[in-house]
Amino acid sequence: MTEEIDWASLPFGYVPTDYNVRCTFRDGKWGEIEVTTSDTINIHMAATALHYGQELFEGAKAFRGKDGKIRMFRIEENARRAYDSAEGILMEPVPEELFIKMCTMAVKLNERFIPPYGSGASLYIRPFELGISPRVGVSPATEYMFVVLVTPVGPYFKGGFQNTKICIMREFDRVAPRGTGRFKVGGNYAASLRAGKMAHDGGYSAVLFLDPKEKKYLDECGPANFYAIKDGKYITPASESILPSITNMSLQQLARDMGLDVECRHITVDELDTIDEAAACGTAAVCSPIGQIDDLDTGKKYIISKDGKPGPVTTALYNKLNAIRLGEEPDVHGWNTIIE
Ligand SMILES: *Cc1c(COP(=O)(O)O)cnc(C)c1O
Repeated sequence: MTEEIDWASLPFGYVPTDYNVRCTFRDGKWGEIEVTTSDTINIHMAATALHYGQELFEGAKAFRGKDGKIRMFRIEENARRAYDSAEGILMEPVPEELFIKMCTMAVKLNERFIPPYGSGASLYIRPFELGISPRVGVSPATEYMFVVLVTPVGPYFKGGFQNTKICIMREFDRVAPRGTGRFKVGGNYAASLRAGKMAHDGGYSAVLFLDPKEKKYLDECGPANFYAIKDGKYITPASESILPSITNMSLQQLARDMGLDVECRHITVDELDTIDEAAACGTAAVCSPIGQIDDLDTGKKYIISKDGKPGPVTTALYNKLNAIRLGEEPDVHGWNTIIE
């Protein structure tokens, strides 16, 4: 029962909710939307999702605002990105209207799991698509299942907004130079797990991956984008192997609104010596400020935060984006979808 949920201490995990919604593509068309209470799916054991990685997913959040209204943040961007991911691995793309409709339904149907305003918690929306046709030879499916599940998640920063330490490691790549890095597909995550575990075992929150071709430029920070603040500019890596983060895109706009220049370009490892702030960004945390970056191969330590506290620009961006998502500040860019 929702009365028993301790919103503030919820982990980023799976809490069962009442319903999820599904739709199947078969015989060349998407069928009826199904609402179900079951949290298991029944698919063929030879489904392409299971053997050949035809799987994509998205991550978004819904919030209970200051005015009591429910808001989804930039869900149409998730719909667009899922469409690109589907095309990237030859899956049937989910039409954007269907994607948004099903996310809206999943949120509404589970309204009692939307954490109250002020709790710091939110309702995480996880849409995903699977190739379900049986195949033994390598080829794309002709049938697909699209599912939207939602689950309440607690605040990312349980001990307050604080710095983390990350590391650079050249032993592993998350993705290939012209591979699937810019698509949100499960295979990329499988490829990052070993590096991530080594980082965690070493006391780091994530790996700052270098570009997989030259190992010269910064790429992604674990499952998040990376940005830095340098001389009053917001700089973030530009590369074909980076997943286009909606949070990063939003922070760039907010940085411009604050009068900062934004540069999307290569950032060399050496340049870390010259930056004022750094952070990882994504839906889960918004910004996760980085205090220190250790290069495990050279032994060099980049101390980004001199006083051990998150920098002023990152703090301002973090507060601004959260305020917009919660309806505390005007949504001048039209990022929220209000669910009536
Ligand atoms: C989802 C994801 C991000 C963050 O994207 P947001 O849209 O901001 O949540 C960054 N990098 C990778 C690899 C991702 O899968």
